[in-house]
Amino acid sequence: MADIEVLLSEEQIAERIQSLAAEILAVYGDEPITVICVLKGAIIFASDLLRALGPDHSIEFLGVSSYHGTESTGHVRITHDLATSLDGRHCLVVEDIVDTGLTLAYIVKNLRVRGPASLRVASLLDKPSRRQVPVQVDFTGFTIEDRFVIGYGLDLDQRFRGLPYIGIYDGQ
Ligand code: 5GP
Repeated sequence: MADIEVLLSEEQIAERIQSLAAEILAVYGDEPITVICVLKGAIIFASDLLRALGPDHSIEFLGVSSYHGTESTGHVRITHDLATSLDGRHCLVVEDIVDTGLTLAYIVKNLRVRGPASLRVASLLDKPSRRQVPVQVDFTGFTIEDRFVIGYGLDLDQRFRGLPYIGIYDGQ
């Protein structure tokens, strides 16, 4: 039976999302934000963040699959592309976690050429000790140590996304 240690409780996450939304709104001012939710891990975070941002913003979905293997370049591909143009829009990429940075580096490079008015990144979690490529994360929920976490959208072989908190998985 898997042992799950609570790292961030439901209440801690909810509180941080409110303060994160305030930080984001302070930067964007009155501009409508196009939230780009990176599937699947960011679905719950992006939904809660969108609600905290208020009614004037929209959401789009980008699916990526990452396989990093042993090479430092990694391999990222788009599995579900955005349904709309980003031309002239203020975009906020919303990620669950930034680990090596390879996925985010690919996403930012891919989206930048689509002509957004601005492109920023919000990640619920950041593991800076694992970084292999430099990436800019404009808004970070929590900086964590190098542990494998699950819950609140994050999976282990597609399980645990529905856990309301973020836990450290330690077991079988
Ligand atoms: P990166 O390209 O930055 O190494 O990896 C980003 C992706 O790896 C995340 O979007 C997530 O899907 C996965 N990932 C990295 N660390 C963890 C972790 O601790 N737990 C889970 N469930 N996924 C992780």
